[in-house]
Amino acid sequence: MSLLDDLVGKYAAMDLEEIFNAVGIAANKIHPANRPALKEVTLAQWLLESARATSKLAMEATNFAGLKWRKEMEDFATPILIKVPSEPEPVEFCKFATVEKFLVGYWKFLTRPVYKGLEDHTTTPETFIGFLFRKNFAADPGYVNKVMKLLPEAQQLLGDANRVGRSSRPEPTLQVTRIPQEVSVGQSFRVEGVAAPADSGKVLLIEVDDQFKTKGATIGADGKWQFDFVLNQVGDRKIEVFTDQKTISLNVRAVQPNPGASGISLIGSVGRGGANNSEDVRKVKSRLHELGFNWIGSSNSVNTGTIQAIQLFQSIIVGRSNVLGDGRVDPDGLTLDWLRANNAPRWQLMPKTDKANGFRNFELEDTSDNHDFGTDWLAKTILAAAKDYQQTFRNANPNASLFVINNVSLPVGGDTPTHAGHETGLMCDVLLPRKDGDFGGITFRDAIYDQQAMRAILQSIRRQKLVRAVFFNDPKLITEGLCDFVAGHDNHVHFEITPPARN
Ligand SMILES: [Zn+2]
Repeated sequence: MSLLDDLVGKYAAMDLEEIFNAVGIAANKIHPANRPALKEVTLAQWLLESARATSKLAMEATNFAGLKWRKEMEDFATPILIKVPSEPEPVEFCKFATVEKFLVGYWKFLTRPVYKGLEDHTTTPETFIGFLFRKNFAADPGYVNKVMKLLPEAQQLLGDANRVGRSSRPEPTLQVTRIPQEVSVGQSFRVEGVAAPADSGKVLLIEVDDQFKTKGATIGADGKWQFDFVLNQVGDRKIEVFTDQKTISLNVRAVQPNPGASGISLIGSVGRGGANNSEDVRKVKSRLHELGFNWIGSSNSVNTGTIQAIQLFQSIIVGRSNVLGDGRVDPDGLTLDWLRANNAPRWQLMPKTDKANGFRNFELEDTSDNHDFGTDWLAKTILAAAKDYQQTFRNANPNASLFVINNVSLPVGGDTPTHAGHETGLMCDVLLPRKDGDFGGITFRDAIYDQQAMRAILQSIRRQKLVRAVFFNDPKLITEGLCDFVAGHDNHVHFEITPPARN
C-alpha cells in the first residue's frame, strides 16, 4: 500500500468529531453537514503540500501539511530538521510517528491561537482554506486556487476509500452528509445521506415543522439516499428525516430570494484570456451591472474595468481582503455559480447615518475621503449590528455614542494605500465611543474612552453571523474574548465578514 493510500484510507475511516473533541475544537460549532467537505478540503490541501505524499517531509516525517515545529505539538510530534524547497535553510518541522498521529496532530495544530475562531469558517471549502490562508498558513498568493483545484481529486479518493472500507466497518445508521444551512424560498435544494444497507429499498419519510409529512427518497442498495426539496415559507425551518428505526432532525433557514437573480449560462469563458463571445460577454456584463459593478462600460467587449470587476467579484466570493483572482468567468466555475446565486454580492454605497438605529456613517460625511463602498453583505451586517447596539445598550444609555463607521473600500474596490486590506468591501473600521457621547480621535488609553459602550458595540458586532474577525487592542476587551490584538488598532476597531452560504 502506498503512503497516499494509507493516508486516505485512515482519514476516510476517522470520525472528525472525535478528533475535534480530542484536540479541543468546538465540534458543536461546526455543522455536521459541513464535516465531509472539511475532510475533503484538508485532504486536497495535503495533496498539494506533500505532492501527493511523495515529498521528503511526507516520507521522512509523516507530515503531509508542511507543519512547522511548535512547542504545543509535543504530545503529537517531535522536531526534525529538514531542508525543503520552499525554504533557503533547513527548518524544524513536526515529525509524526504514524499517519494516525498526523491526522490528529494536524487538527491540534489548528487550535493554536492564530487560528482562533476557525469553527466559524467551516461553511464551505473555500471559506475554510481562505481562512487558513489569511492566517498565513501559506505564503503563495495562489494557494486557495491551488487547493480548490485539487478538491475533486480529494473527493474521489475519499469516496473510493469509503466504498472499500464499508464492509470492514460497522454499518452506518441514518445520517445526513450534506444539507445547506440557508436556502431561498421556492428554490430546490438537495439533501444527501446514508442509512444502514439493511434499510435499502425502504422509503424515507420527511416532515417539516412537525406538520407536513411526505415521502422522501428510496434508500439505495449501498445505503445512500438523496432527495430534492423546496421550502415555501421564510424562516428557521425544522426538517426531520425518518426510517422506521431512527429519526434525525435538521435546521435550515429559508430566506426570501432576490428577484434580480438570473440563470446565466455561458458557451465560453469571459474575461482575461477568455473566448469572449460577444453574447457571453453581454450576459456577464449585464449581470455585473445589475449587481452594482457599474464601471465596466456597456459595450460587448472586455475592457480593463471588466477584468478588474471580475477580479473584485472573485475576491469577494472567497472572502479575501485583497483583490486577486484570474479575472475570468468560466462556464462551469465558481465565479459563474456565484454570479447566478440569489445572494450574489452587490457592490454599493454604504448605508447613510440613521440615528434612530444608533448608526452614523462618518466616512460618508467626510467628503475628503471616498472609502465609502462595499458589499451589500457588509451593509446589512453594519446596520444589524448598529440596531442591536441601539436596542441592547443605547436605549438604556441614550447619551452614549452612536455606532460610528469609517473606511470601507474605494468606489471600485482594489488597492488602497492608506487602508491596507480594505480592498473588497468585506471589512470596515469603527471609531471609539467617548464618555462625552462623541466619538473618535482617542485611543483606549484615554480617560474619556467609553469602555462600557465599546464592549456593547463589540458584542453587537460579534452577534452578526458573518463576522469573522474583530481587531482592537483594549487588553480588557481582548481577555473578554471580544477582539484580537493587531498592531495599529489602538484608536479604532477593524472588523471583517465572511461570505454567506451560497443559495
Ligand atoms: Zn481596518
